[in-house]
Amino acid sequence: MTKTLFEAAKPILETLQNHNYQAFYVGGAVRDYLMQKPIHDIDITTSATPDEIETVFDKTIPIGKEHGTINVVYNGNQYEVTTFRAEGEYDDHRRPNEVFFVRDLYEDVKRRDFTMNAIAMDMNYQIHDYFNGLQDIEQRLIKTVGDPAERFNEDALRIIRGLRFQSQLGFTLEAATFNGMHTHIADIAQLSIERIVIELKKLTLGQYVAHSFNNLKYFNAFNYIPFFNHFDLSKFILEDSMSLSMFIAFLKVQQPDVNAQLSDLKISNNEKKYITRLERMIQQMPEVQSKQSLNLFVYDYGAEDILQVLSYERMLNDNNIMKVSPFIFNNAAINEVSRNLPISSRKEMDINGKDILQALDKPSGAWLKCTLRQVECAIVSGEVKNFKPELLKWVKTHV
Ligand code: ATP
Ligand code: MG
Repeated sequence: MTKTLFEAAKPILETLQNHNYQAFYVGGAVRDYLMQKPIHDIDITTSATPDEIETVFDKTIPIGKEHGTINVVYNGNQYEVTTFRAEGEYDDHRRPNEVFFVRDLYEDVKRRDFTMNAIAMDMNYQIHDYFNGLQDIEQRLIKTVGDPAERFNEDALRIIRGLRFQSQLGFTLEAATFNGMHTHIADIAQLSIERIVIELKKLTLGQYVAHSFNNLKYFNAFNYIPFFNHFDLSKFILEDSMSLSMFIAFLKVQQPDVNAQLSDLKISNNEKKYITRLERMIQQMPEVQSKQSLNLFVYDYGAEDILQVLSYERMLNDNNIMKVSPFIFNNAAINEVSRNLPISSRKEMDINGKDILQALDKPSGAWLKCTLRQVECAIVSGEVKNFKPELLKWVKTHV
């Protein structure tokens, strides 16, 4: 069992208590600990106000002070310490009109999403479980704190979060919670895409993603999410956990005529590039029919990403995305090709644009890029050695 992280954070709870404040571990770490799963980050909740937290500790960072969150730096680690909070009314299905700092733990856990996430634990591992979260964990149930319809109506992200937890934990959605999700699914259209994407990234990686993906489809959730609303998700079967990027690439290749912009997802440029690269790779795969073309393919996309895509062979089949030849695309062949590539990137070429311009005595132009690519392909396929004098000779005779 992983008590280590709790033990490391214990002095923070102790310090707060020594100053006559209450302090507890709360949220995912407590849930995972009670499930005897490894825990990652620890959240601390306290009766101390943000100002009081800052007074009590030497080193603090006010990362979300207006919402009550202060990071306490202790022993080189940062801990999120949040003041007990209650929430006012919700008007827009996404955030409360106001939050109040309160001195009562019950008020704080009452605003939390699911019973399993509303358990507080003190530094002696005593739990304060106002909503029978432990029992729900034991029964493997995802259940909202309070009336599901009301809670999803307040903040529709909880619907996606519930499905995300289902995907990660394999729990069942308690009947009223399931119905509440269904009733309020259209409200997710009002959420910021950034918040949705954070949850979807965790959802697609979950071990039990097949279940929660089916629920997403059953609720027609994707109709209310930018980018995805352009696709017909009923045609897509998600059987195995994968990164959100991989899922999007598969979807784009399956439905190539759909005009949807990755920028609508507000993901990073690197993520967009990675998805586009995967998409191109998958599209090109069926064209790779010979050992020669496999060389270039492995050089262009790298063994790691290719093997990753191939590990989803069943899904590629079931979604009619592509069938690849097992004679060309097998782990052994790809690894061997990768090991024997004469160069692993353009940077390793023993010739550059300047050399080519000099050798051919021609003015630069768009042709140069094509020529460099031609030389690159010739090296990778073994047609010419990556050795400057030979490359120059090759350029003179082939260009
Ligand atoms: P993880 O292990 O993935 O971090 P988590 O349960 O800790 O899961 P967080 O997003 O880190 O999830 O949120 C911490 C806690 O804050 C949750 O356990 C829950 O108590 C509360 N919480 C988070 N988001 C919401 C929300 N939208 N509505 C109500 N409570 C929430
Ligand atoms: Mg967390």
